[in-house]
Amino acid sequence: MSQIDLLVHNIKALVTMAGPAGARSGAEMKEIGLVQDGAVAVVDGRIVAVGREEDVQKQIQGADISTEWDAKGKLVTPGLVEPHTHLVHGGSREHELSLKLNGASYLEILEKGGGILSTVRATRAATEEELFVKAKKSLDQMLQFGATTVEAKSGYGLSVKEELKQLRVTSALQKLHPVDLVSTFMGAHAVPTEYKGRTDEYVALVINEMLPEVKRSGLAEFCDVFCEHGVFSVEQSRAIMQAARKLGFRLKLHADEIEPLGGAELAAELGCISAEHLLAASDEGLLAMKEAGVVAVCLPATSFNLRLSKHARARKMIELGVPVALSTDYNPGSSPTESLQLVMTLGCLNLGLTPEEVLTAMTINAAHAIGRAEQVGSLEVGKQADLVIYDADNLAYLPYHFGINHVKTVVKNGQIVVQDGKVAYE
Ligand SMILES: [Zn+2]
Repeated sequence: MSQIDLLVHNIKALVTMAGPAGARSGAEMKEIGLVQDGAVAVVDGRIVAVGREEDVQKQIQGADISTEWDAKGKLVTPGLVEPHTHLVHGGSREHELSLKLNGASYLEILEKGGGILSTVRATRAATEEELFVKAKKSLDQMLQFGATTVEAKSGYGLSVKEELKQLRVTSALQKLHPVDLVSTFMGAHAVPTEYKGRTDEYVALVINEMLPEVKRSGLAEFCDVFCEHGVFSVEQSRAIMQAARKLGFRLKLHADEIEPLGGAELAAELGCISAEHLLAASDEGLLAMKEAGVVAVCLPATSFNLRLSKHARARKMIELGVPVALSTDYNPGSSPTESLQLVMTLGCLNLGLTPEEVLTAMTINAAHAIGRAEQVGSLEVGKQADLVIYDADNLAYLPYHFGINHVKTVVKNGQIVVQDGKVAYE
């Protein structure tokens, strides 16, 4: 090696997540590849050496180093991966807080034309430019909180034209933002008001018009459906997902969030890459997911914000051998937060995961949940140089000291994109 673009050194605790291929479960979720006194060397945005600093220094001996970055004896982890967000949308719903405090449930607010349908109205009313400005602000927040790869769903347009509008905003963001975006079409997120009582007709619109148009546009890689009582049934969800698979979309599913409908079983049957929420998933459903290799994406900020006493059974999932990932579920209704660090705390306190399991769930397993594990999710030679330096010197400090942002520096593809806790990209 004659030239090193970036050397991050003086890392007290370097969490590499190096380990076996495949999404991790059981005891593997506790293995984080921790290196004391580590360093990471980068060429052309990729990691060329990583490990103990003295070993890395030996490997790059004699090379010219363009930028040396002192981690000042702190903690470094792989860039965090967000496998489930509803990034692009119009409006916000703080007025629902008082309704919730008066005891209205998610489905009750939805039945009154509020909830997601009010976001649909706001998204349809917004221009592409307005959606772009709002989503960019959120994406900057996510980056400042340590996320370097983010999945983004449509699903607030609910017509061919409006879904494409949302997806174009994601695509435009990708062109200028350092965070890697993974685009998901979710036309079956809710039944729009104009199709009230005619869900089957809306399902036909999704299958016959939206999916082919979205495919032609090339604006989405994944397809997701909200399989839930009062939204889309197992049969309707299956029909949409089968049509999507035929067109070449990869599949994700919002499953068993509120009622045990058989969503986990459906995700396994269809070979989805991930199933999300899963608060009400049955043991049989979870076992089927394990057999089919479906990643469970748990969203504890959502159950926290919905004031549920019930949580996803993440410990049971791990025990059964289901790989668990975590995400914010950032959206304007049930989880208006961009902070994966808050999710770390909730993952520990409400799901009972250890800090090590939480980090596995937010890095390598999250990368598997969006088909990006070859590129990101761990600090290994050949992978993208995406890493986070915190103002903390050990992992447990992050979920322990909650409600603040511990991120100091973020490196994305070998570039410093957050400095002193603030976005600093061109
Ligand atoms: Zn969601």
